Amino acid sequence: MFNLPDHLKVKRTWILLAILALVTLNCGIVEVVQMPSDSNSSGIIFVTVTPTRQIILNESLRSRPASTQPESTPAPYFADANELGKVLVLEYHRLGHPELRFQRTPANFRADLQRLYQSGYYPVNFVDLVRGLPEVPAGKKPVVLTFDDSDISQFRVLDDNTIDADTAVGIILNFHTQHPDWPARATFFVLGNDNADHFSVFGQPRWAKAKAQFLVNQGMELGSHTVSHASLAAMTAERIEWELAVSQHVIEELAPGYSVESLSVPYGEFPYTMDFLKAGQWGDYSYTYSGNAAAWGGPTISPFDSAFDPYHVSRLEVTSDFLNHWLTYFEQNPHEYYISDGDPNRVTAPGLEEIVKE
Ligand SMILES: [Zn+2]
Repeated sequence: MFNLPDHLKVKRTWILLAILALVTLNCGIVEVVQMPSDSNSSGIIFVTVTPTRQIILNESLRSRPASTQPESTPAPYFADANELGKVLVLEYHRLGHPELRFQRTPANFRADLQRLYQSGYYPVNFVDLVRGLPEVPAGKKPVVLTFDDSDISQFRVLDDNTIDADTAVGIILNFHTQHPDWPARATFFVLGNDNADHFSVFGQPRWAKAKAQFLVNQGMELGSHTVSHASLAAMTAERIEWELAVSQHVIEELAPGYSVESLSVPYGEFPYTMDFLKAGQWGDYSYTYSGNAAAWGGPTISPFDSAFDPYHVSRLEVTSDFLNHWLTYFEQNPHEYYISDGDPNRVTAPGLEEIVKE
């Protein structure tokens, strides 16, 4: 059980004021206004949009000629490293009973973490994969835990303001406490709504802001799963850009100062041109995304593979059968999985001359 920090514990009166104060202004443009908790203050605070920074995997990395390497590189080298191996990006939805296609039981999710940990995997956020996995220790195998739809079973706060230990966040944090060398990392692709359910992220409107900030402070990632969860494949350009701009804006309002960089298109269905996913504009809101998670496809190729597309990263939908299949496969074929050399400044793989990362 985890107590939310004191500054995240919200008084009931403040909550009511905050909910009342949330308004959607004209022209369909979302403006989040907050009523200050201090009752003797009369001002309304307008939270401005935080421009995002686009992070693009270094193109020159892939084609960099060996002859341009520096003479020496530092030494946290792992002999069996393979940074051109595949990576598992696991796709979860709800937690609960019974086990269903889109619902994993808490016990099974704990067992997933235990098996991954014991097998030498190391959790990173989705955006870290797109960035080239800079922080995976030598010999470790990166794995990404992703959760779509911001269902309450992913992050529930109980009446005593503690985190439900059977939700994804509770399980991840407890596992991290028990295994400090397994960091609390996961990416939550949430729905950024601008309607009456504006603060419906993770199903408890009054906790939405505290939850978003808590996750970011713990080092976990918030990504966009659009506003409405409709398929981008059947939308006009204007609607697509509204979905991608407004959701990013709403999530960033929940966690001020945080930049949303990752996206997960609903149903794995893509718009008619991928350009929409990278950057766009709706009204006063411009957006950029560094990467997008697909809904299926199995293990993804390495971010250093020349065929890697950060806007079409394969994921593995987690069911007991699928996960067991692939974990067993990589136990039997360990040379096919990504193993870090522990050095963020170079790419190491069998048969590959050292490439120094910029
Ligand atoms: Zn979804």
